[in-house]
Amino acid sequence: ENLINRIAAGEVIHRPASALKELIENSLDAGSTSIRITVKDGGLKLLQLQDNGCGIRKADLPILAERFTTSKLQQFSDLSKISTYGFRGEALASMSYVSHLSVVTKTQTDPCAWKAFYAYGKLMEGAPGQTVDPKACAGNDGTIITIEDLFYNTPTRLSALRSTSEEYNRILDVVTKYAVHNPTVAFTCKKVGSTSPELTTPSTNTPVNTIRMLYGHTLAREMLSSSVTCDASVPQSESWKAEIHFSSANYQGKKTIFLLFINHRLVESSRLKRALENVYTGILPKGTSPFIYLNLQIDPRAVDVNVHPTKKEVHFLNEEGIIEKVADSLTDALAAKGE
Ligand code: ADP
Ligand code: MG
Repeated sequence: ENLINRIAAGEVIHRPASALKELIENSLDAGSTSIRITVKDGGLKLLQLQDNGCGIRKADLPILAERFTTSKLQQFSDLSKISTYGFRGEALASMSYVSHLSVVTKTQTDPCAWKAFYAYGKLMEGAPGQTVDPKACAGNDGTIITIEDLFYNTPTRLSALRSTSEEYNRILDVVTKYAVHNPTVAFTCKKVGSTSPELTTPSTNTPVNTIRMLYGHTLAREMLSSSVTCDASVPQSESWKAEIHFSSANYQGKKTIFLLFINHRLVESSRLKRALENVYTGILPKGTSPFIYLNLQIDPRAVDVNVHPTKKEVHFLNEEGIIEKVADSLTDALAAKGE
């Protein structure tokens, strides 16, 4: 059973950056305004996230890392959210199967923080299989999740990864993108023992301010923005909206930078990326590339239910129509700027 769970966990958590993505989303769901990440050896030795969110009640700690344990299914309408990304309550469970997972957490009303260790889906301490109550400890309001020795028991998964510096770059990439998408949240990301964080954003108020901080003034100066709203009252799956911030013809990056969030989740769509890159053909000098940040909100039921949350390529209903309208809006904005 543990072997099967370990394999399943490897499907949810591919690499340190995919674990981090789940942790960041949990912190955002918990209402955090500050998210601090610490990394050792590309996240393989240590991946730690500290937030200032609502915390986890002590009573919820014993089952926290059991599969399908979630606090996010209170209302029937939430069922549509499950179908959005297919799976719920799997992230922490998966991490507990392929790493040493510990949690320190404190809610506002708790007099002290609680610390708990997990393995194979279970709360534990000391000898494997032995379940003990969480321990009282000092701590601030919010949650610290610590993942150590990721993939220590799944050598195949471990050997599929290239280098710790590559994994670290992917971590920075995930943090950068979530920071742009959540400009009111302060993010930091640093290596263990280093005094200055590699990445730090204060809470700014707009994505463009955060883009300026993370990608530089040259880009931010050349940014254009547009939005598309498609308000079809019936059928529901055809109502959606997009907010786009993108570089003008004056910005000539080397590689395309494409940030795609669908319903606040970082995803990839090579079709969408290609279509938007094409808009720049003939506008940008050959060999140079644009920057595009797209915040797309669609009916959750329109996202492909068969795609696992961590499968990056996402598909959705009316894909073609949405891609076309978003590309048109980019084309118009670039043309207006060019005149
Ligand atoms: P899901 O996010 O789908 O509910 P997870 O396995 O990611 O499943 O998390 C399980 C539960 O643990 C969440 O529903 C939430 O109640 C709690 N949780 C996880 N991380 C945090 C956090 N940083 N702050 C508060 N609660 C958290
Ligand atoms: Mg989660």
